[in-house]
Amino acid sequence: MISVPKGTKDVLPQDSYKWQFIERTAERVAKTFGAQEIRTPTFEHTEVFLRGVGETTDIVNKEMYTFLDKGGRSITLKPEGTAGVARAFVDNGLINGALPGKIYYLTQCFRYERPQAGRLREFHQFGIEFLGASDANIDAEVILLASTFLKEVGISNVTLYINSIGCKECRKKYQQALIEYLSKNIDELCPLCKDRLAKNPLRVLDCKNEDCKKITANAPKILDYICDDCSAHFNKVQKLLKLANVPFKVDAGIVRGLDYYTRTVFEFVSENIGAQGTVCGGGRYDGLIAELGGNDVPGIGFAVGIERILMLLENTGVEIAKKDGIKVYFAPMGEQAEEKAFELCTKLREKGIASDFDHMGRGIKAQFKYADKIGAEYVAVIGSDEIANGSLKLKRMADGQERMVKFDDLINEQL
Ligand code: ATP
Ligand code: MG
Repeated sequence: MISVPKGTKDVLPQDSYKWQFIERTAERVAKTFGAQEIRTPTFEHTEVFLRGVGETTDIVNKEMYTFLDKGGRSITLKPEGTAGVARAFVDNGLINGALPGKIYYLTQCFRYERPQAGRLREFHQFGIEFLGASDANIDAEVILLASTFLKEVGISNVTLYINSIGCKECRKKYQQALIEYLSKNIDELCPLCKDRLAKNPLRVLDCKNEDCKKITANAPKILDYICDDCSAHFNKVQKLLKLANVPFKVDAGIVRGLDYYTRTVFEFVSENIGAQGTVCGGGRYDGLIAELGGNDVPGIGFAVGIERILMLLENTGVEIAKKDGIKVYFAPMGEQAEEKAFELCTKLREKGIASDFDHMGRGIKAQFKYADKIGAEYVAVIGSDEIANGSLKLKRMADGQERMVKFDDLINEQL
């Protein structure tokens, strides 16, 4: 037997309705905010992620599935959605179209990580990218969209943390102060953070190592360094979130893992799914489109991990309603009955009613057992008596209630 590769999972037929519910909810909520779907390729030229995610990030340094294709090109399976969307936005000239471009996506992502609860090598994201607007009202809107989505799928116990990491200018000053502080404590930092200090000091604030956390707890706070414009922008985001009744906490420790973030950054975090508690992360990325060869077009977005959403729902006992089961299962006995079942089943399907019939030549008892297993709402029994009088016996499985229905009337029967 061959099993799935480490860090990947099958979504089995009995569970796919949960995924469909999450995906349909994502689509519905995104559309109410005016977003349209984009589908970008599963793989891109590696350069898209080197430039679009950033060379100092964990994703680029450790986690990408990169290979040379048979033509000798360096190709990478997408580790996240934003860089590919930004590439497509430039590539297809959408930056010259109607702005803001409001885009959503549902995609699988690939990261070579150590698999554990909530951390897979292939996982799925629902993401939003709103491109072209820099006003704080769109930051608030993107956060509101994420919050609405989480609410609509049935999640109530998450905390929203927001922060501003300033613009290029104010971040320079902050980085200086941070480097000064961290350099004094360099001996206490983990080896990775010693390296980060040299390459991208902000990332040290993101480290999960306990020793590093102790040091960063007393580090200078970015909010004390941001310029007046960034400060006014952040205040407006908060004001609008309050207006929309979205509760949040300002947390100077939220910096996000990607290089291209500016100003607003945010995370929705749950206490109910263990160490991998971030279900949604996002932020503004005003330099990204230019980095990928476009004009200076600002943008903001987020990505939600669908596996973590499902985990959270399960751990907090929220059940997703199972719909779209079989309405009528036909249980024929004999060849003539089978033909009738085939004919009537086809008629119901043409009307859009999910139906099925025996394909295994089973006896009537085994057919009922099967109908029960697949959760059929009704079983329609057709035997020689039924053929003789032109009707079938319709049994409602929930309460065992039976009624006779003429073959010709079944199509109009209230089911
Ligand atoms: P983390 O800190 O958990 O590693 P991240 O900052 O790397 O998260 P993002 O790149 O912001 O994550 O991705 C957005 C969301 O995608 C995360 O909040 C999470 O829900 C989900 N996610 C990220 N990596 C994985 C993974 N390896 N397996 C499952 N879900 C993931
Ligand atoms: Mg990660």
